[in-house]
Parts: sequence; C-alpha cells; structure tokens
Amino acid sequence: MRYSGFQVLWQGLTGNTGWGPAWRDPDPKPEYDILIIGGGGHGLSTAYYLAAEHGLTNVAVLEKGYLGGGNIGRNTTIVRANYGLPGNSEFYSHSLKLWEGLEDTLNYNVMHSQRGMINLFHSDGQRDAYARRGNAMINQGDDAILLDRDAVRRMLPYLDYEQTRFPIYGGLYHPRGGTARHDAVAWGYARGADRRGVDLIQNCEVTGIDIENGKVRGVQTSRGAIRAKKVGIVVAGRSSQVAAMAGMRLPIESHVLQAFVTEGLKPVIDHVVTYGMGHFYISQSDKGGLVFGGDLDFYPSYAARGNLPMAEHVLEAGMTLMPMIGKAKMLRSWGGIMDMSPDGSPIIDRTHIDGLYLNCGWCYGGFKAVPASGHCFADLMATDRPHDVAAGYRLDRFTTGKGLMDEEATGSQHNLH
Ligand SMILES: Cc1cc2nc3c(=O)[nH]c(=O)nc-3n(C[C@H](O)[C@H](O)[C@H](O)COP(=O)(O)OP(=O)(O)OC[C@H]3O[C@@H](n4cnc5c(N)ncnc54)[C@H](O)[C@@H]3O)c2cc1C
Repeated sequence: MRYSGFQVLWQGLTGNTGWGPAWRDPDPKPEYDILIIGGGGHGLSTAYYLAAEHGLTNVAVLEKGYLGGGNIGRNTTIVRANYGLPGNSEFYSHSLKLWEGLEDTLNYNVMHSQRGMINLFHSDGQRDAYARRGNAMINQGDDAILLDRDAVRRMLPYLDYEQTRFPIYGGLYHPRGGTARHDAVAWGYARGADRRGVDLIQNCEVTGIDIENGKVRGVQTSRGAIRAKKVGIVVAGRSSQVAAMAGMRLPIESHVLQAFVTEGLKPVIDHVVTYGMGHFYISQSDKGGLVFGGDLDFYPSYAARGNLPMAEHVLEAGMTLMPMIGKAKMLRSWGGIMDMSPDGSPIIDRTHIDGLYLNCGWCYGGFKAVPASGHCFADLMATDRPHDVAAGYRLDRFTTGKGLMDEEATGSQHNLH
C-alpha cells in the first residue's frame, strides 16, 4: 500500500481496518545471492539500496532479535554533516543529502527535522578549531555559521552564560543539522526493501560463517544453514564477535553509550545543542521529552543498559550548561553497544575472504550515517568497487597506518572517540 494523506483519511473513516503488515515474515530459503547479517539501520538500508539501485532482490537480512531492536532504536537521533577531515566530510555530506530526500524515497514519514545544530565553544582555542571545522564544512558544500556569544544568547536564551568556569564564547551553527525519528528510519527501509522482494528474517541468529578455499559459502543460523554467494557483516556492537566466526580479529572495541529522556514538556529547546566543555548534547523530541546523552562508559562491555555513575556524569554536564533542566523529571535511561574503532571513523570494505564484506566502526555517529552507509555498502557488494565517498573507509588503514581519520585528534584509543 502506498502511504498518503488520502489513505490516512480513508482509513480513519473506515475504522482503520485496511492497513496491512508493513513487511512479510518469511521463512529463510536454503540459498540467496546476498545475505546481510544484522537488521539495524545499516543492514536494512544496505538491503534497500541493493534492491532499489542494483536490482538485486534475491537478498535476505538475518536479524537475531527483531528489526530495529539494536542501536538504531536507542540513539539520540542527531543527524548532521559537520565533519572536518577529507574522507569523512564527503561521506557525511552525501548522507545528509540522502536524508533530505528520504521521506519521498521511502514513501515513509521518518520525521526528519532540520531544526539546526549549535556546537558551543568556551575558549579562544576552541573557537579557532570550530572556525576551521566550519570552513571545511563550507568547502564541502555544506552550511556553517560561526556565532558570537550575543548571537548564541539570542537563539538559546536558556543557557547559563554567567558560569565562571566555562563561559560560553559562541557556537558553530549548522542550520541543516537536526533530528529524525530513529525507529521510523528502520521501519521505512525495512518496508522499502520488503516491497522489492528482500526477505527480512527475524529471530534468526547467525552462529557461524561457512568458508571454503578462501571463499564464503553461506552461514549457520539458529534457523538452519543458509547458502550465499556474498555475505555482509553489519552488526554494530557485535562486529568483533561475528567477524571472529570468519577467523578475523577486528580493530574494534564494544562500549556502552547511554541516553536519557525526561517527561514531556512544552516546547523549550528548538535546536540540537552540544556543550563544548563536557560531552553533553540535547534536543527535544516531538513528544516533548528532552533527549540527551554524553560519554561512553569508558570500559569495554556488552551490557546494553545504563548505570548511575554515567547518569551523574551526564547530568552534571547538563546542569552546568542549562540549570533549568534540573526542574524536569527524568523518565528513563538506556544503553546501546557501540562499535568503536581506533580512529573514530568507520570501516566499509571487503575482507581477505572472497565474498565477505564488512561494515562497522560507527562509534557515536552511526545514525546520521544510515542512508550513505547502506548506499555505499550496497554499491561495494554489488560492484566490488568502493563508492567514491566511502573509499577512505578501508580496513587496512589500521595495519598500514595510512589514511587514518582521527576527527577528534585523540590518538589511537577507542574509548576517546
Ligand atoms: C545511546 C546512543 C545514542 C546515539 N546517538 C546517536 C546520534 O545522536 N546520532 C548518530 O548519528 N548516532 C548515534 N548513535 C550511534 C548509532 O545509533 C549507531 O552507530 C548505529 O545505529 C549502528 O548501526 P545499526 O543501526 O546498524 O546498529 P544496530 O541497530 O545495533 O544493528 C545491528 C543489528 O545486528 C544484530 N545482530 C548482532 N549479532 C547478530 C548475529 N549474530 N546474527 C544476526 N543478527 C545479529 C543486532 O541484533 C542488531 O539488531 C547513538 C547510539 C547510542 C547507543
């Protein structure tokens, strides 16, 4: 069914009895041309673009839980293209352009809201760094405006400008940045892939990868063996574990990242705001909840849940920046498992095993990457050539040291990116 305003009206008048399931629930076939392991944002968008752009529909997505139950449904929904380094810059720029047409492409309301993002700075040195980043964004063809303190105060009057420790000097404004409804992105890609013939197979855990003479032959799953010519690993925080099934040791550590939401409030924060002296970022959801997050837990873990030390750490930063949030009641917090790479940038590449491909290392920023990641990974899997805007995301940069993209300039330490 094609979704439209007319359908909403018609279904409303006829008791909402005409809506069908958004996708099928097929059993796995014995063999496919392509298997995608992982039904998160990146796996689903890869499947969608394989079908939509390359006409490859003998494809299945294998998801151990339910579609969208991983990080794609746990993030703070920020979408931006404000990277500074060549390699990242053109990729995220490409992604933002795909976001801007995504609702038409998918015929699905992903609630993409370009409400603007402001990165605050608190020293002369930070201002210089943001000025440089803004210039890189403009050179890439994206938008960036350096705001002084008064301009920020006019836009964000609720911040504490008088704090003596980290006074606000200004902000880098990225008007096309914003948010999107994270689950809807998974659902929109799932529906689009399903309509083109891709099998989306839930409750199907991959437990082994079959390799013969250096070539992938298929996978073992909790629902039996499935043969395939090509297999893509797109499992975010579980990347090291699944790659180990093919005998690979990845340069990835898994860390928990937490997020928090308050009770619903009247509109109060109408941008995405990030604090430059503490890792804290905030926006307000369309339901009214203040959605915010901060740092990783700093130690590797597979526990997708929150804990009190990080709640204290994040809330302290939030209270320093905007004391008004102390009046809001926190509704819940949660965690997701992040696939952290040593330079903070992702991997989209072939592996040394013929027919086995890898997409991982998204760190904090994989939600905004979903459209471009799927687009470029599908291109790589279909053509065996890297897409132009993802050509820098090679796996071997961690063995050769050539082409590292350390956006934060923190060095080779997974938990600092
Ligand atoms: C709290 C939090 C806040 C974040 N905020 C932002 C943000 O504001 N902006 C941003 O850009 N990014 C953000 N991110 C990062 C972003 O959410 C992730 O980088 C991105 O979602 C990861 O890719 P994915 O959607 O494919 O992952 P997932 O949704 O985790 O998908 C991977 C899937 O693989 C499945 N899987 C794993 N092992 C197997 C197996 N053996 N067999 C079959 N299936 C398997 C999992 O069940 C899972 O569904 C945030 C993340 C978190 C946790």
